[in-house]
Amino acid sequence: MKLRTLVPLVLLLVATSARAERSARIVIDAGHGGSQEGAKGSGTLIEKEVVLQIAKKLRERLETEMGAQVFLTREKDGTLPLPQRVDFANSKRPDLFISIHANSMPTKKMRERAEGIETYFLSATASGASARATADRENAEAGASHTVQSDSTLSFILNDLARMEAHVDSSRLAYSIHQQLISATGASDRGVQQAPFFVLMGVESPAVLIEVGYISHPQEGPQLGKAEYQEKLISAIAQGVKGFLGEVRKRDARPEVPVTVEGGSAVAAPASP
Ligand SMILES: [Zn+2]
Repeated sequence: MKLRTLVPLVLLLVATSARAERSARIVIDAGHGGSQEGAKGSGTLIEKEVVLQIAKKLRERLETEMGAQVFLTREKDGTLPLPQRVDFANSKRPDLFISIHANSMPTKKMRERAEGIETYFLSATASGASARATADRENAEAGASHTVQSDSTLSFILNDLARMEAHVDSSRLAYSIHQQLISATGASDRGVQQAPFFVLMGVESPAVLIEVGYISHPQEGPQLGKAEYQEKLISAIAQGVKGFLGEVRKRDARPEVPVTVEGGSAVAAPASP
């Protein structure tokens, strides 16, 4: 091989391996905080405390096991508006974003019945009545409406394309984490679902919201506060994150397929054999 062709190849390999090996950047969002207590379980169990415990332990796990750079939207029990969580997440330019919550039911009868884990990614419409209700509960603390940036048309389109890619990856991330959660905990599988969560809107990376269980359930609720059960949740989420990053990095390491524009629509050119 001639030097002229070898040099770009070597540069490409160096760039690709640097991208594949750099440490992952992850933002973890512990839901609620401060005056926003979130859902309440029996006794003294409160969602804002349980999810902060899980978020901190998850950070430690991801740092030690993967050498990831992990950022928490909140470190302590303070009020943090949803738009600030989104801005914080985007400022870190993460590979992925995870918001951690615990679910609850309003009536005694429903509290006794509803249990299990749900993993969500963003969509404009909810995947069902229960997903809609969960999003309504979690969105309740949102205040002012979101500002829309008025950029040029091109950057709008580019942002939109970036969001579409992040959206597809959000669904991948959700499935990767959810499978691990169900097999590690044996909890009731309430599925991967979609709903319009404010905290996921505007996040530019792949983003999921995990309802780690029903804090209002007589058996599952108390479990969420126990270190042993939290360990299962954390290990499962870490496994899911690893699986997702491995899959995405393998894909992104492949040479890109050129895109040509024909008749106003973008068409992917067939990959050469
Ligand atoms: Zn919540």
